[in-house]
Amino acid sequence: MELRLYNTLTRAKDNFRPLDPHLVRLYVCGPTVYDHAHIGNARPVIVFDVLNRLLRRVYGPDHVRYVRNITDVDDKINTRAAERGISIRELTEETYSWFRDDTAALGCLPPDVEPRATDHIREMQVLIERLVASGHAYVAEEHVLFNVPAMPEYGKLSRRPLDEMLNGARVDVAPFKRDPMDFVLWKPSTPDQPGWPSPCGIETPGRPGWHIECSAMSWRHLGETFDIHGGGIDLVFPHHENEIAQSRCAFDSGSMAQVWMHNGFLLVEGEKMSKSLGNFVTIRELLADWPGEVLRLAMLSTHYRQPINWTRQGIGFAAKTLDKWYRVIGDVDAETGEGNPFESEIADRLGDDLNSPSAITHLHHLADVAEHEEASSHMKRRFKGAANLMGLLQETETEWRARQRAAVSVDPEAISELIAARNAARKARDFAAADHIREQLAAQGVVLMDNKDGTTSWELSR
Ligand code: AMP
Ligand code: ZN
Repeated sequence: MELRLYNTLTRAKDNFRPLDPHLVRLYVCGPTVYDHAHIGNARPVIVFDVLNRLLRRVYGPDHVRYVRNITDVDDKINTRAAERGISIRELTEETYSWFRDDTAALGCLPPDVEPRATDHIREMQVLIERLVASGHAYVAEEHVLFNVPAMPEYGKLSRRPLDEMLNGARVDVAPFKRDPMDFVLWKPSTPDQPGWPSPCGIETPGRPGWHIECSAMSWRHLGETFDIHGGGIDLVFPHHENEIAQSRCAFDSGSMAQVWMHNGFLLVEGEKMSKSLGNFVTIRELLADWPGEVLRLAMLSTHYRQPINWTRQGIGFAAKTLDKWYRVIGDVDAETGEGNPFESEIADRLGDDLNSPSAITHLHHLADVAEHEEASSHMKRRFKGAANLMGLLQETETEWRARQRAAVSVDPEAISELIAARNAARKARDFAAADHIREQLAAQGVVLMDNKDGTTSWELSR
């Protein structure tokens, strides 16, 4: 099938052709691990998980390598560890384990490689030495700086005029910089900061700048040039522009990655998420209230390049949709693979620059088809397989309902007793009493469903 991806570098939707069809190579900038990830951070994780799943379907699961790094050296990390009175390692380990659990709960497959910056200091030093040797970087006051004017194509990705780039980069114009645009590859550390032997004969131990980390880790795990590089739109400049400058100059190559993909930003109830506005919400807080698949479906309801407005209403809508879809599939197993035409229809929609809203609209249609197909569970299995391609409907209906019950703050036994009392009242034709019990349960968020055979099941409304 044809895969078309919007490329920030060309500003066009291009047909995707991997450099090596036997190994499609994808790199996505991962988290800086010092605090719980927020729901905005979840967006690239979910979006690129869908891309990873799609690439695996098109090229085969063994022919894709997905690398997402962990930035575990950063001044925000040092500050937070000091505030909490714990070691940097303790902080980064704990934060990474939260991130891993949160993203698993969102139904994301783990990347093939999750390299840590601190395990790649050697590669960074090698790159820095090369850049200095080729005249693309220089040493000044124990720092190593990238020399932006030495890279004539600098700015090609972000296409910004120089003065805008300067403002955007918010670079402090240190007196030792030759050009205000020059950025840090390596900086000296004080004894209380993490430090490694410095390159280029600098005596004081130091630590890397942020941008060089991704050039080093993508090089080590994907090579000098690879297929797709992803991240949030805020990373286009300066982070990705600088990654390109470093890698292309170090390897004397025409490109770092062929395709650059960027997800749009997430707003909460129409506003930029920020701690000061009080609308800052972590993945973990949301997972306390909602199954991960609900958050995933809500996220994918907007095309990844558009800004997304994250609202309670959107989450509620996703929850209702999944409730319906689970009712349709029951406990069938998914049918996956090329033989499932429903899955191919979803793959085609995702193949158009990950058009997840169109894929979801089609899933609604497939749910109707599967619901009305009484004779066989065939359609249900196919529908489930199609949803699985987006990481949705990964459970059975029984598991889904059990999860809802487990999340309930009311006591399931007490609910069962009230249901029995209500059934007895109905049997005795005391409908007022039966209605009263129904309302009592509704007040706790418990919705009763009366079945034809007289039994009553329940689920939680939200
Ligand atoms: P950070 O830890 O801030 O470097 O962010 C990790 C990833 O999350 C990057 O790809 C960012 O672009 C992305 N990101 C951060 N905030 C948001 C947001 N509000 N909406 C969408 N993506 C975001
Ligand atoms: Zn990066």
